[in-house]
Amino acid sequence: LEHLNEHLCSHLDGRLSHFACEHRVRTDQGGWKWILSRGLVVRRDPHGKPLRMVGTITDISERKRMEQELREMATTDYLTGLANRRHFLERVTEELARLKRDGGHQAVVLLLDLDYFKAVNDTYGHSAGDAVIRHFARLMRDCLRRMDVPGRVGGEEFSVLLPDTDIDAALHLAERLRARVAEAPVQVDHQQIPVTVSIGLTLLTQADASPYAALQRADLALYRAKDRGRNRVEVLSAGD
Ligand code: GH3
Ligand code: MG
Ligand code: MG
Repeated sequence: LEHLNEHLCSHLDGRLSHFACEHRVRTDQGGWKWILSRGLVVRRDPHGKPLRMVGTITDISERKRMEQELREMATTDYLTGLANRRHFLERVTEELARLKRDGGHQAVVLLLDLDYFKAVNDTYGHSAGDAVIRHFARLMRDCLRRMDVPGRVGGEEFSVLLPDTDIDAALHLAERLRARVAEAPVQVDHQQIPVTVSIGLTLLTQADASPYAALQRADLALYRAKDRGRNRVEVLSAGD
């Protein structure tokens, strides 16, 4: 309302050549519509006071809905509903900027990769594999807080940003998730598919030049978890 009034006044005062504003209106059923209001003062008195204004009011709800859908498609992974790789990296970039600006808090990045997933596809088929990926995404989301950012960054590779979290808390969370995945086989079409996950984690630090630096450390930690037998959690600190 404030935004709309500001625009309208600017035009009435002559500071804006025409009035145009996108805003919502409440419908009598209690819902909302998006409206584009456009107008032009067509007559003023000798002192510039507006006397007559013409314009249009257009329902743009459908366009707004499509814009929102496009925004979601651009940022979301279709299979799991998690952040896609690009959006996830954006969120880590933002967190890194926050860290450099404010300091005083810590953040952790996790990289997670399902173990022997090729065998899952080979044994149970690709769509069962997809079901496993969705199942894992759900388990992961259930373990997280609202502020945490889970993403699907590759086929069966996931990443999580934990803001305001230290290594001990992150280790605790990663271990809990690892155990939950291991103890709950996925039920797909009357078949039980055992799944395990390997997790690498690292602190995001002010010294990181970009999100890739931290992700590279998390990747090394993940590689170590794979190398040491899978179904495990490994940490790599910035100095390693
Ligand atoms: P590792 O324990 O070393 O991770 O073994 P892995 O077999 O899981 O090896 P890797 O991570 O390299 O393999 C990933 C496999 O995941 C390859 C591909 O067939 C499968 N995959 C990737 N994306 C998808 C997907 O969207 N759906 C399904 N069903 N499978 C996928
Ligand atoms: Mg794998
Ligand atoms: Mg992989």
